[in-house]
Amino acid sequence: MRPPSVDSLARSLSDIDLPPPLLVDAARTAISNGQPDSARDEAVRLQRALLGPAINATGVLLHTNLGRAPLAYSQPAKATNLEFDLETGTRGSRNHHAANLICRLTGAQAAVIVNNCSAAVTLVLAALARDRAVAVSRGELVEIGGGFRVPDVMAESGARLVEVGTTNRTRLDDYRTAHQVHQAALLMKVHPSNYRISGFTEETSVKSLATLGVPVVVDLGSGLIDDACSWLQEGRPSWLGEEPAVKQTLESGADLVTFSCDKLFGGPQAGVIAGRSDLVEACANHPLMRAFRPGALVLNALQQTALAYLRRDGDSIPFWRMAQTPVTELLSRADAMSIGRTVHTMAMTGGGSLPGEQIPSAGVEIDGDISRRLRDANTPVIARVHDQTTVIDLRTVDPGDDSLVVAAVASSI
Ligand SMILES: *Cc1c(COP(=O)(O)O)cnc(C)c1O
Repeated sequence: MRPPSVDSLARSLSDIDLPPPLLVDAARTAISNGQPDSARDEAVRLQRALLGPAINATGVLLHTNLGRAPLAYSQPAKATNLEFDLETGTRGSRNHHAANLICRLTGAQAAVIVNNCSAAVTLVLAALARDRAVAVSRGELVEIGGGFRVPDVMAESGARLVEVGTTNRTRLDDYRTAHQVHQAALLMKVHPSNYRISGFTEETSVKSLATLGVPVVVDLGSGLIDDACSWLQEGRPSWLGEEPAVKQTLESGADLVTFSCDKLFGGPQAGVIAGRSDLVEACANHPLMRAFRPGALVLNALQQTALAYLRRDGDSIPFWRMAQTPVTELLSRADAMSIGRTVHTMAMTGGGSLPGEQIPSAGVEIDGDISRRLRDANTPVIARVHDQTTVIDLRTVDPGDDSLVVAAVASSI
């Protein structure tokens, strides 16, 4: 029998929601593999390779591979005042909407928004320390993950790294000496967001670094906005451990802080540089700013998140709502799903934040490794597996998705 033509095979797939050129690709692949019958599977494979929703049942709230903080967001197809000053009718700045709200939240004099925290650190170094020395403790020369290594970022930005102290102990005198010898442009502290040094350790506080008369930059990474957590009815949760906050770090004397917006801030992927206005302005005016600036989609989502904080409405920020759901509620959801044993679990923030801190959680345990089948569901469910047991942690699942999880489990056993 002659194989079907690519076109007729592609037409037979027209019920699959993909544009015709991609259906043609699927048909062509199937025919050239000598298996025209596999065209439908090929098309489904192409469809599932697109960016799409997934259900995070891992118990890791800020899962980097699952897009970190979840966020609902929509925007009408309308022009915006992105760079238009409605007061004067002339050109404005894209840095006066969300950035001003960040200042209001943190007490910073000024702030600038870039694409992520890596861009924030790179821009600070390039704008304020090009060809000059930047002192960093040997205990903080970290790799954050995904290729963000402090010494490499330093080199790329044109700043000269001066290592001070030792891996476990760095004192004020170490920074003072480094400054005297190298005339440091900046003293930089990097928050150890994804690791912990314990035992015989000593680090120098921001407060004492600020006495040396050199601008102090703190890369906080995680972006907890305020120690008081006034957006939560219960106040600051214990699982935050010692996590430093943006507002208090600035109050203790940091001249600039940098942080991610899709970690503990719970917003879209973006990065913030906040602090002294002259330093922020130097960053904003640097040529790299044009390459690092986010678009209106991101700025709008960031603005919505910042407004939720100002309304003290943590419940409307998905990350905080999920993190703070009472275990009793998770247990009764697990019971109601009746797809396996209801179990207590431990969730964590993840995304390179709060190493070692766990959040009591609950979910469902199912015998056997059914993770592959769960991923194959229409809305893929990503679960945890250990010892041939699949665990669906409900802390990271939106209650509105429980029925999808039930359906995914039902179709996989
Ligand atoms: C996460 C993190 C970064 C990188 O942030 P991205 O927004 O992912 O680029 C940088 N520094 C610290 C301390 C971090 O925790």
